Amino acid sequence: MRVLLVEDDRPVAESLRRGLGRYGFEVEWVTDGRSALAAGPCDLVLLDLGLPDTDGLDVCRELRARGDVPIIVISARAEEIDRVVGLELGADDYVSKPFGMREVVARIRAVLRRSAQPAGEAVVSGRLTIDQRARRVLVDGAEVVLAPREYELLAYLSTEPGRLFTREEIMEAVWDSNWFGPTKTLDVHVGALRRKLGAVITVETVRGVGFRLLAAE
Ligand code: CA
Repeated sequence: MRVLLVEDDRPVAESLRRGLGRYGFEVEWVTDGRSALAAGPCDLVLLDLGLPDTDGLDVCRELRARGDVPIIVISARAEEIDRVVGLELGADDYVSKPFGMREVVARIRAVLRRSAQPAGEAVVSGRLTIDQRARRVLVDGAEVVLAPREYELLAYLSTEPGRLFTREEIMEAVWDSNWFGPTKTLDVHVGALRRKLGAVITVETVRGVGFRLLAAE
């Protein structure tokens, strides 16, 4: 897994490069926007906003215009406006300095997992269709309206029907990338899926571990 790190602050970059290396990522490090846009293909971009030659937000916009490589913005700017603009320009997530290595790695993994989900249609059973481009769910051809998180949860569990997903995996993938709080909200959303889609899917609870999605019998 190749990460393009765009960061002009040497100590921060060195520590990220070392840390990510320990987690098995191969890191290409560049220090300005021009080099970032000239770099070869990568699986994910970690992008500082305060760069010496250009605004990181412009780099973000340009990278997004070229393709759909996942982008995580890292910045000392903690202002909400930068976060919003970064996400509007196509960044997938955002971390503020100072951050811990585990937080960065958790976010990278969550973003990679989300972007690995195939776009298009996933047919879970003969009766349920998940249209991932339109983010719509159809049962027997008729739309069932889901809340955004309910949709995300369904889309995530349906990437591998029958597989047991742990609560932690689900929280990390569907909710904030690093979730340390209670996970009751997960049960609430599972309950909603059962209520709305119980005719076509079963969401099985494995007590103390997590959930698996199966086609209803
Ligand atoms: Ca900087």
